[in-house]
Amino acid sequence: MKYSMSKRAVAARAKKTDMRAAKAQAAALRHARFKAKLALRDTLTFSKNNAKVTGHIISLPAGHACVFANTCLAFAHRDTGKITDGENAIVRCFAATGESWASNARAIHWHNFDLLRACRTAPEMVALIARSLPQDAQLVRIHAAGDYFNQRYFDAWLEIARALPQVTFYSYTKALPFWINRLHCIPQNFHLTASKGGTHDHLIALHNLRYAEVFNYAREARAAGLPIDHDDTHAWKTPGSFALLIHGTQRAGSVQAKAWSVQRAAKRKAKLRAAAKAAAAAAA
Ligand code: SF4
Repeated sequence: MKYSMSKRAVAARAKKTDMRAAKAQAAALRHARFKAKLALRDTLTFSKNNAKVTGHIISLPAGHACVFANTCLAFAHRDTGKITDGENAIVRCFAATGESWASNARAIHWHNFDLLRACRTAPEMVALIARSLPQDAQLVRIHAAGDYFNQRYFDAWLEIARALPQVTFYSYTKALPFWINRLHCIPQNFHLTASKGGTHDHLIALHNLRYAEVFNYAREARAAGLPIDHDDTHAWKTPGSFALLIHGTQRAGSVQAKAWSVQRAAKRKAKLRAAAKAAAAAAA
């Protein structure tokens, strides 16, 4: 049977297509303006607070700045945001997923990475970080995305932490060789957690490093005897290793994708239960 659209339907579809194209063009223009402004800055860009972290955060491009990433490795293309998984990837990097759709965040991470890589010496890096760090910073998460990409950069942050003993710095890292090289001179206000899933995980047991491990389900974390962190406090406030539950979009059809959807469904249910409880309390 031959099907033909009415003239009105054809016109409506064309209008929708035009609107979509106009929206995409406007978004591209806004992004180009944002990038042009960013290029004028000679300081690193920190963000403040996100859904999980309370404090200042600096990020670098996920995957691109993670020289020791292994089972978590994923990259968002610098320009297009298209995501590529590393060949040993099991868990898809949450930060790379975020960068794949948030073009401004991606631009900021690259801006930071470019400025840091342009420093030729450690003192240059220290000076760059020092003039960029917000004056009111009290708690700083080094890398919500990215990692220490060379020893000089790792050392620069140690230097900053020594100069600012009143500020708490913390990070998850897979750059264990850089950490091991400085094992005996880590300042007290600099909290490191080895993030399992890197190329040098054997160093964790060898040096008895505090670590974080990602699990699909809470019961697995409990079986491993690890407390579950939900708000990053285990990373800077509490001693000892801990578990994280998988979060973020995972590869379609994977065990991790299933676990993530189970987790989201449980969260939705808990929210509904809380709302119903609040409504019942208000009505009583
Ligand atoms: S090290 Fe962290 S930021 Fe880098 S790819 Fe792995 S999970 Fe992502």
